[in-house]
Amino acid sequence: MITIKNEHEIALMKKAGAIVKDALCLAEEKIKPGMTTYELNRLIHEFIVKQGAHPSFLNYNGFPASSCISIDDVVVHGIPSKKTVICEGMLVSVDVGAMKDGFHGDAARTFAVGEVSAEKRQLMEVTKQSFFEATAILKNGMRVGDIGNAVYNYATKFGYGVVREMIGHGIGTKMHELPDVPNYGEAGRGVRLVTNMTICIEPMINLGTEKITFDEIDGWTVRTADGKPSAHYENTVIIKEDGVEYTTL
Ligand code: MG
Repeated sequence: MITIKNEHEIALMKKAGAIVKDALCLAEEKIKPGMTTYELNRLIHEFIVKQGAHPSFLNYNGFPASSCISIDDVVVHGIPSKKTVICEGMLVSVDVGAMKDGFHGDAARTFAVGEVSAEKRQLMEVTKQSFFEATAILKNGMRVGDIGNAVYNYATKFGYGVVREMIGHGIGTKMHELPDVPNYGEAGRGVRLVTNMTICIEPMINLGTEKITFDEIDGWTVRTADGKPSAHYENTVIIKEDGVEYTTL
């Protein structure tokens, strides 16, 4: 279902979003070589709970942690683990959701650990910028296809693969609501976006092929098919009359 929020609900969305934003700031501050993804997830979990919020990802369809931590060729849904050590030169994508007073926030950042290669750095920057290419044109009356078109056109200029099978989404009292928000599409097509719709825009961009694989053993981890790195950037966005507002930025 597509939901339009009233002003009270928008205020609650902003509260939840602020917790996600702060959890990601904490992750950025604490991430360092030698740490396991289990430890980083624990810091995020403890922070969210301390705010009187619930980690949206924990037990979501059985997901076993409060954040997804996805390194290098892992596109999304990496499961934090005591066996996964964060090292200098890695791209680490951290995806966090929090529910407060019945409403969710959801956002992701890709962090560079220490010095990373020039190609990884550019991938990270282009992924982030592809998000802002979309939000720069958004306002009441635009279409979902305008978002995907902007992300896709920008990222493919650099020869990158734009992941198709994983997409953004509406958000509210449920973490995943309609509409679907793909990172490709035709300008002027698709669901009309109206004031106080809240959506997550989340480009997942690969250095190489757009093709991905799903781990059949853990049932979650999504990797690039060619083993090359991937980056992820996401915010929860409120459509406004003349532009957008961010709850998680
Ligand atoms: Mg999301």
